[in-house]
Amino acid sequence: MPKLCNKCSKNDAIYLRQYSGEFLCKKCFVKSVEYKAKRTISKFSMIKHADRVAVAVSGGKDSLALLNILKNTLRGIDPELIAITVDEGIQGYRDESLNIVKNFCSMIGVENKVVSFSDLFGISMDKAMEIRPSEKISSCSMCGTFRRRALDLLSESTGANVIATGHNLDDYVQTFLINLFAGDVERIGWTYPDPVEYGTGGLKKIKPLMEIYEKELVLYAIHTNIPFQTEECPYKDESIRSAFRVHLNNLEKIHPGIKYNAYNSILKIAKRLKESPTNIGNTTLTTTNLSTDNVISQEHRKCEVCNRDSSNKICSVCRTLNILTEGN
Ligand code: SF4
Ligand code: ZN
Repeated sequence: MPKLCNKCSKNDAIYLRQYSGEFLCKKCFVKSVEYKAKRTISKFSMIKHADRVAVAVSGGKDSLALLNILKNTLRGIDPELIAITVDEGIQGYRDESLNIVKNFCSMIGVENKVVSFSDLFGISMDKAMEIRPSEKISSCSMCGTFRRRALDLLSESTGANVIATGHNLDDYVQTFLINLFAGDVERIGWTYPDPVEYGTGGLKKIKPLMEIYEKELVLYAIHTNIPFQTEECPYKDESIRSAFRVHLNNLEKIHPGIKYNAYNSILKIAKRLKESPTNIGNTTLTTTNLSTDNVISQEHRKCEVCNRDSSNKICSVCRTLNILTEGN
């Protein structure tokens, strides 16, 4: 005998939210995910009326779910939305997701702009993987470094004042652990979700899905009929992030809600660190931890090569390009 939904008490439940013990029907589950995202947006004042929001959409479940939620649920705020997509130049993989994004955007009536690594940096991921010294830089840290810059440039070119990314709660907890184990304490403070203005156009970076479990975003995409790419990137490295992901998932199975507890603790730690960063001392940025560099230092230094914001003398993009061309 199927369980009834605990919220509406009408429909059969399709999901047991382990950490709260709630049984939810499809409609109430979808509504609850959208509500959580809206609550996060409002809690951290992520989007204001008449903002122009560039939504980073890769073709994966998180980013497409984010676009769908922002498009359908922000009545009253009515931000202008534009989907921005980066083509890394990974043959046989990225082509499929570019099509998924294009079709989804045209279906929901959102403009989609695409930019490629080749156009911006003169090199595709396929080529970079051929020539990189693998002991100096991993595929995902190289790709992530270029992608963040590409998203910044593309957002600026569209006149957006906000960039929204599909990072979820699992990503947020994993990033904390990566920074913790790398001894990168200062960076933990930078992850506090108070929108930070930076760059020439005063762009803010926001993560409206940061309080939603990854597994709930998969279900959300399935139950709202969002087509998403499931194939894995051929260059995906087995980084420390994967190890933390597996470990946290195992813990969550035994202790439902442990990721959410961790998220709440991390938020408090990040807030304290953000408020008093001077007590922490300097940190070292190495090529192995570039992939966590998704927020900008508040020192607002400029890269000596490209003159963009950087936490070091030379920004991570220019250093990566140097490694690829000169080997150092
Ligand atoms: Fe880039 Fe790594 Fe993602 Fe592949 S898995 S698209 S290399 S970040
Ligand atoms: Zn630079």
